[in-house]
Amino acid sequence: DATIRRIAAGEVVERPASVVKELLENSLDADASRVTVAVEGGGVDGVRVRDDGVGMTATDLERAVEEHTTSKISDGDDLDRVGTLGFRGEALHTIGAVSRLTIRSRPRDGGRGHELVVEGGEAGEVTPSGCPPGTVVEVEDLFYNTPARKKFLKTEATEFDHVNRVVTQYALANPDVATALEHDGREVFATEGTGDLESTVLAVYGREVASSMVAVDGGSATTPGDAEAEGPVESVSGLVSHPETTRAGREYLSTFVNGRYVTAGTLREAVLDAYGGQLASDRYPFAVLFVEVPPGAVDVNVHPRKMEVRFDDESGVAEAVTTAVREALLDEGL
Ligand code: ADP
Ligand code: MG
Repeated sequence: DATIRRIAAGEVVERPASVVKELLENSLDADASRVTVAVEGGGVDGVRVRDDGVGMTATDLERAVEEHTTSKISDGDDLDRVGTLGFRGEALHTIGAVSRLTIRSRPRDGGRGHELVVEGGEAGEVTPSGCPPGTVVEVEDLFYNTPARKKFLKTEATEFDHVNRVVTQYALANPDVATALEHDGREVFATEGTGDLESTVLAVYGREVASSMVAVDGGSATTPGDAEAEGPVESVSGLVSHPETTRAGREYLSTFVNGRYVTAGTLREAVLDAYGGQLASDRYPFAVLFVEVPPGAVDVNVHPRKMEVRFDDESGVAEAVTTAVREALLDEGL
């Protein structure tokens, strides 16, 4: 019933940043090359995600907000959906139960645009709408009907901080997608979507940080064709900052496993180890580090709603990451 649905929804959609995460995932799944996230009041007043992806027909739209309907196929626990509602067709339904949700969509390859409004779980009629190809999802008055959940929200600044982190992670993980973030009508950042990590970091973190970045390129340590020699890590690549370009918070040390943002103490410590005591105490470097591991060598079920992962061979992964980052720093004489 509606109450149980709302309680369940409050458990999976914790805050505006969780809404943003799910909507961004959907836009990327829809093959978007441009995604704009605009939030009002830290996301509590409103979240709008616009994409130029494949879009939806009127029928797609109707189905999209139903329970457990998904157009996607998955084997369940893969890394593809760590920390999201997954391929289970729950996100839009869940968000619609605890907000006023408006979706406007028009198929990219022809057909008309349509709009659907869901209010507190009640879906209205699909009506024609003059909208550009792609999809716009608007979430207003999040938790208006779940006051207990709403009470747990922090200040606008804190909620926006969480939103910013999520959008930043996706922007960094997808340099080929032009990703923009706006807060209360002001642009926070906008990446170009050229596929280039350096220019993405420049757009997200600014010139001072971007100019201090060093390229990491730890290719596979395995002998080609020698399956037996295969290590726990296929490759380590990305950018890390000079030891003097640091911040007090660890949130600027971003790690991605097989293309997905993850938090893993092992990876963070491995990066810090590579600096060999050059960092001031309690300071963290900037890092955008992509670690590729064989599928199956990583466990994503440590905490289903967080982005935590654990590796079968924790020390092997740590060693590969430390070595790759250390070599990059040494190459620069650092
Ligand atoms: P899931 O992503 O797990 O399938 P969601 O509730 O997030 O479940 O979305 C339901 C369905 O709505 C998706 O499977 C997809 O078909 C459609 N959909 C959602 N967002 C978009 C979008 N931005 N562009 C195109 N289709 C979308
Ligand atoms: Mg989804």
